[in-house]
This record gives sequence, structure tokens and C-alpha cells, in this order.
Amino acid sequence: MSNPKPNYDAAAIEAARRDVWARRGDFEAPRPGEDRPCIYVKPSSPFTSGNLHMGHVRDYSIGDAYARFRRARGDAVLFGFGFDAFGLPAELAAIERQIPPAEWVEQCGERMLGQMKRLGFSFDYDRVFYSSDEGQYRWSQWLFLTLLEAGLIYRDDATVDWCDTCQTTLASIQVEDGRCWRCHNEVRLIRRPTWFLRITPYLEENDRNVEALQASGKWDELSLATQRYILGRADGVELDLEAGDGRRLTVFTPHRTAVAGASFVLLSPRHPQVAEWAADEAVRAALEELRSGGWERSARDAAAVPVVDTGESIPGPAGEPLPVLVSPLVDARFGPTASLGIPAVDEADADLAARVERVAFEPPEEGEEAPSFAPVEGLGETKRYRANDFSISRQRAWGTPIPVVNCESCGPVPVPEADLPVVLPRDMLPKAEGNPLAERPDFVDVACPRCGEPAQRETDTLDCHFDALFLWVPAAVPPEARAEQMFTHPDLRKWLPSERLVAGGDSGGFVFDQRIVTKALRDIGPFAFMAEGEPFAGCLFHEMVIADGRKMSKHLGNVVNPDELVEQYGADTVRLAVLYAAGPAKTLNWSDGALRFANRFLRGLWTYSHDRFAALEGHAHDPEAAADTEHMRDRLRKWCDNGLERITEDTAALQMHKSIRNLTRLFERIQDFEKRVVKRRGQLDRADAEAQIAALVLLAQALEPFAPHVAEQLLIDSGREDGADLVGRWPGQAAIPVGAEEPAPAS
Ligand SMILES: [Zn+2]
Ligand SMILES: [Zn+2]
Repeated sequence: MSNPKPNYDAAAIEAARRDVWARRGDFEAPRPGEDRPCIYVKPSSPFTSGNLHMGHVRDYSIGDAYARFRRARGDAVLFGFGFDAFGLPAELAAIERQIPPAEWVEQCGERMLGQMKRLGFSFDYDRVFYSSDEGQYRWSQWLFLTLLEAGLIYRDDATVDWCDTCQTTLASIQVEDGRCWRCHNEVRLIRRPTWFLRITPYLEENDRNVEALQASGKWDELSLATQRYILGRADGVELDLEAGDGRRLTVFTPHRTAVAGASFVLLSPRHPQVAEWAADEAVRAALEELRSGGWERSARDAAAVPVVDTGESIPGPAGEPLPVLVSPLVDARFGPTASLGIPAVDEADADLAARVERVAFEPPEEGEEAPSFAPVEGLGETKRYRANDFSISRQRAWGTPIPVVNCESCGPVPVPEADLPVVLPRDMLPKAEGNPLAERPDFVDVACPRCGEPAQRETDTLDCHFDALFLWVPAAVPPEARAEQMFTHPDLRKWLPSERLVAGGDSGGFVFDQRIVTKALRDIGPFAFMAEGEPFAGCLFHEMVIADGRKMSKHLGNVVNPDELVEQYGADTVRLAVLYAAGPAKTLNWSDGALRFANRFLRGLWTYSHDRFAALEGHAHDPEAAADTEHMRDRLRKWCDNGLERITEDTAALQMHKSIRNLTRLFERIQDFEKRVVKRRGQLDRADAEAQIAALVLLAQALEPFAPHVAEQLLIDSGREDGADLVGRWPGQAAIPVGAEEPAPAS
């Protein structure tokens, strides 16, 4: 029996519910079957950074509410994730503490998992993994070899920052104003062999698919915008220019009506024909300098970006000679191509023209009319993409070892798949200077897999961005099957593509590259069942959480610690407040107002409901009174139906702030119903009290995805025979069928 008027003791309620969930294994992903939809909700993969921050709380509160909602509607739900555990932040933290990064990662992971459980996130915790585990990065190595064999990974020189004092390459975030973060000496740029991921073969398909993703209605505007931005598509025209000596260039411009106004041709330093236009010794030297001078960091600023005049010309569309220039400005706008410089209509071209003597261009006078140009024949409609291949290797110790052996006679030789994983020494202590991997003979010295002669292992590691290319896959494979079947397990066909990715607005780059690699794996074979090559059927990006209008930072002293909030108010209040305070597309400017609002609502609902549950038996049944208030009960039911319809719709669209607003409104209406009946008849009849409790129970059911602990407890305390059975079920949802493949419910 329910205890009359118990206090709302969030800590006690939440601890009790957590225990029950863990004991019953409520959130274990069921074996996916045929009998109902299989829904994989993919949250972002956190870095093992030390603590959950409010951005995580926002991310997982949205994802968890959605996962619980889909479960409550009868779907088979997989809600799982792994830690993105390799990379520089963990390595730097380990250097600072002088402990192996593996140890640091484990400490952080355990702490973060504890925080997640405390917040009631319904992950399948048995499926959690770390990208730095051998069993996991073995598959990063497999992916590397697979893409290498398919020609989608290649080695080329790249420019990297190098510190002579520390004898190490630096990541760009380790370079501050051209100086080393550690020793503050000036860094210089060096060229060194680097591994690249080839993404160009799939750019066009990524582009095409964006329309379909948008049409599905499951990708929000922010996530679509990031995909378009990263792609950097420019529509325009191209035409062939001929030099007369057999040399030809295909040039692009987005200005289709101004082609006749061209006054130069601009080549990317990475254009395949650039050497043909650099015959002159001095030009070649200038180009080499341009390359080693860091053009990869190409400023988009046309007034500062380097430019080399080749001294050569090519006849333009009207026959006049156009100077041929080389500048990474092209890359930053249209990718590694050739473009027509038309300063009369293009501001960046005008800025560049002003810096090159040979280009004749007079900027128009103030107020002068825009020029018009004669049409040019033979233009072909076309497009260019700014997105391009990117480097995937780093000269750092805390990362997936690249499965390659460098042999003096054979060159770089891939490690045979049977010899995977190439194990990263667990006891390795990274240092700020040098690469500790390179200093370990037990790691470096091996026999060449091809000729058997002594050779050296590659000591570069894979950037954690590479591990992330498939971090959305492992949760869909039962842990015990991952060693053998990471990319071939039959469950993958049921869970993939993920129904919804929920991630921060800065995840666009990861998602873009995951979309590329899914297409590659479709063509190679393992993901042939995903015809579209899209890993996520739906995607919700949310903005970040700030405080006092500014980004949270230790430096500003405005960091909000979720642990303290949970301690003070309970997890349900924190979740509800984070969801209610702003829609996902808006930046959440944290304030205690939302917290107090959420807490007041939960306390109010708790006390009000328990009072009504306890008072039910005291209401006498009087047929005459019941008949007199029947229209009021009808109206209450209508309120419930309408409210529920809106809440269902908004939750399905992951607009949780609207759902919660409607939940609070429904509560007001339920209170209103009682006031009206009392005003008319002086008291509630038994029929009225029952109708009111039915409404409160419906409210608790619909509240469950957002504030699961208190909602469940309310259902159990409702005293209704079916109260406990309603736990985990959306209002109106029949009992969830338990198929043969389901795990047996704990008794
Ligand atoms: Zn240094
Ligand atoms: Zn060899």
C-alpha cells in the first residue's frame, strides 16, 4: 500500500529505482527480432576527459528521453556508446600526472560512467567500450588495412609543426602564436610522410544524399547545415583553355555570366598539372617554399594568402593572355582545382589581383555601375567541392599503432591481418619531448612481413578521428562477438543504420567522414546491406550549454558542475531542467531558474498525486452527483487526449522542451478539473476521483522518459492494480510482447 503523503526525497527515490533497473537489466538491448522495429539511438562518444560536463548532460538527457520513449512505445531499443579514449587530451593529462595514459583513461571512464548512472541514463552499460582497448583498436587497424587495399588510404608528404627543442611534431592546438606550448621556442614547419584518407570518390554521393536525408524529416537543420558546409559545394561552369603548345587547363568559376571578364587563372598548389606551369627554376623554388610554408593552414583571407606568379600565360575565353598564378586560395574555396580569376565580380579575386603586378585590373570607382560581359560559348555546367582528403596519422604515442612495417628493401609493408592487433605497450609513459614509441626496441624492431629481413615498425599512430570512423558500430555487436564479428555480426543488419544520432553541433566533421567510410565499406562488402551508405537514418545536433552568456571555463569560474546539481536537487530535476530550458537548436544559457521551475513542478506533482491516491477510498459513490459532473470528466479526458497527442508528437521529433511544457500544462488542467467540480458540488464524487487519478497516472507515464525515477515511483504508488505494469509503457501502449528471443524478465 502507498504511504500517505511521503516527502519528495529525490535521493532515496532515485537510488531505489536505479537498483531495480540494474537488478532487472531493464536497459539491456534485446536480441533484435522481426516482430517489432529495432531502434538504435546513438549518443555522442565522449572523450575520457575526466568528468561529465553540462554539454554531456544535455546530449544524454535528450538521447535518453528518446530511447525511453521508443522503448515505452514497444520498440526494441539499443542505446549504447563507447569512449573515444585515444588522442592528445588523454596523453597530455597522462604527461602531467606521469602515469600511463591507459591508467588515466580507465580512471576517467569509471568516474564518468558513475555520473551517467547517477543521472539515470538508460544505456546498455554492458556494451560500453573504449577505443583504446586492444579488442577495439584491432578493428581500427583492420579498417586501415581494408581501406589501404581499396586505395582509399595513401602516403604523401604533409606539412607539420616541429619543435627542435622538444624533438617532436606538434598538433595545431599545441602551437600558440607560432611557439611550442611546452618550451615556448619557435616552431618550424617540416615536410614528412603522412598517411591520408581519400574521401574524394564519395563526395558527390554524400552531396546527393543530403537531399534525401532532409526529405526524411529525421535530420534537423543544424546537422544538415554542417554536412553542406563541410562539403563546401560551389556550383558554376567550366571551360577548357588551350595554350597553343599542347598544354590545356580546365578552369572553373562560380560566376557563369562573367566568364569574359577573366583576368587571370589560379591553380591550386595540389593541382595535378601544376608542375607543367612551373618550368622556371625560381618559380619552382617559390612553389616549394609555398608548400613547406604551411599552405595547408591556408588562410581564407585573400589579402594574406600566399600567391606565386608562374610568369606564364594561357589564352582566355576571348583570346587575351591570362597570367597563370598558384595559390592555396583555390583550395580554401573550391578544392584542389583551377579557377578563373574575375576581379570585376569576385572580391577575393580582386584582393588577389591587387597583389600581383602582372594582373591588369582597375577597381571600379565608387558608385560605378556593375560591368556586364559578353556571353561565352562552350561552358559546361559543373560543380566543385572544398572538402578534401585529410591526414590520419600523428607523431604521438597514445593512439592506434599503424599496422605497417617499414622495410629498407620492400618499403612500407602492411602487417598481415592474422598478425593483428599490433599492440601498443600498456606501460608506456608518454613524454612531452620525442616519441616514446620510437625509443622502444621491443615495439620498433621486427622482421619484415614480406622478405623477413630486419625492419622497423611505423611509429606514427592513427589520429583518434580515424578510430571515430567506426565508433558507432561496436555498440550494435554483442560484446562477446566483437573479437570475431565486428563488421559481420548478423545483428548489424537489424540495428543499422542507427535510427538517430544525438550529438553536439560540433560533430559535423565526424559525421561527414563516417558517412564517407560507410559508403566505402558498402562497396568493399561488409556494409553491402546499407544500400544508401548512410550510417544514421536520423540526426539531431544540439547547441552547447553556456553560463552568463559565455562559454563555461575554469578560467572564467562559471563552470556548472552536474554532480553538485544532482546532489542538491536530484537527477530528475536536473534532466528536466536541461531539457526544458531550451530547444536543441538553441544555445542553452544555464540559469537556476529552469532548475527551480523543474524542481517545483516535480515536488508539486509528487505531493498532489500522493494526496489524491490516499484520498480515493474516502470518496463515496453517488449516481446523481456522478451524472451531474459527467461532462467535466469528459472534458478532462479530452484534455488528456489532446495533451498526450502533442507530447507524443513533440517527443518523437526530439523537441523535449515542448513536451515538458505540455506536461506542466496538463498538470494545471488536472488541478483545474478538481477546482471546477468542487465549485459545482462541494466535493469530488468517487467517479471524479477515479477519473482524476487516471489522468495523474497518464501524466506520470508520459513524464517517464524525462524524469524516469519519480515518474516510475508515482506509478507504483498510484495504488492502481495495474500501476506497476504501466511502468515503462507509454499511455495507451499495450503490454510489450515478449518474444522468444527476448531476455527472460527477472521475477
Ligand atoms: Zn618545444
Ligand atoms: Zn622487406
